[in-house]
Amino acid sequence: MRITRALQIGIGALAVAVAATGCGGGSSKTAVENAADGKLTIGVKFDQPGLSLRNKDGSFSGFDIDVAKYVAGKLGVAEDEITFKEAPSAQRETLIQNRQVDFVVGTYSITDQRKEKVDFAGPYYLAGQSLLIRADNTAITGPESLNGGKKLCSVRGSTPAQNIQKNYANDVQLQEYDTYSLCVEALKAGAVDALTTDDIILAGFAAQNPGQLKLAGKPFTTEKYGIGVKKGDTESRGRINDAIEAMINDGAWKASLDKNFGSTGFQPSAPPQVDRY
Ligand code: GLU
Repeated sequence: MRITRALQIGIGALAVAVAATGCGGGSSKTAVENAADGKLTIGVKFDQPGLSLRNKDGSFSGFDIDVAKYVAGKLGVAEDEITFKEAPSAQRETLIQNRQVDFVVGTYSITDQRKEKVDFAGPYYLAGQSLLIRADNTAITGPESLNGGKKLCSVRGSTPAQNIQKNYANDVQLQEYDTYSLCVEALKAGAVDALTTDDIILAGFAAQNPGQLKLAGKPFTTEKYGIGVKKGDTESRGRINDAIEAMINDGAWKASLDKNFGSTGFQPSAPPQVDRY
């Protein structure tokens, strides 16, 4: 009897908790609705210099951060009302589906596979998969030169890792970590021969490690960066698309890329056309 009563209380408490937070622990409102309340939770990377970096003082900087802040501003949310939540590559869809974030601005490629779970505003940038190697390496010049079982690092749940598994699996040893900064440590320590992901991410790491790391070869895919939103939330997607277009048209988009990559020698892509699917 006692056990039954305890169980009932437990179930009651659980029901209250689920009702208060929505299924999966996030907000029950859409991004635009949360913005109307004056607050947004945005999923970003924490460890990608030039794009999205959490600094020692707790502030955030980089092109993706500028995009996130600009979009929030257009939705009426001040910078200090944004909560940035870490969104590692493999967790982005889940964070959006569970409404633990309002949207993700995190070097997030628009793909058909991901579109089954989330929707995308954008694209707001066009990147391409490339390779990062130690500066003294002259043997690796592109994906073909990874033949012979070279050790290649990438990140779980990322399109570059999937591309390697699909197209180069017989030739290379892929090692998957949770973040790119862990791959950079492995590369510097000599535990892997190369790191593969988007050129703009690699350029940020190369700039952070001058004389130690360099990009190799030319980009060999096209990665369209989108802002991931809850599937079916056409209102938020439309408003975010408006914001991306405004950022490109009023010069803030180029100003951010100049600020974050101007001194690195990396040539960012031209602004893309937003896709109003
Ligand atoms: N853009 C690629 C992707 O979305 C690689 C970068 C990343 O993992 O964030 O998977």
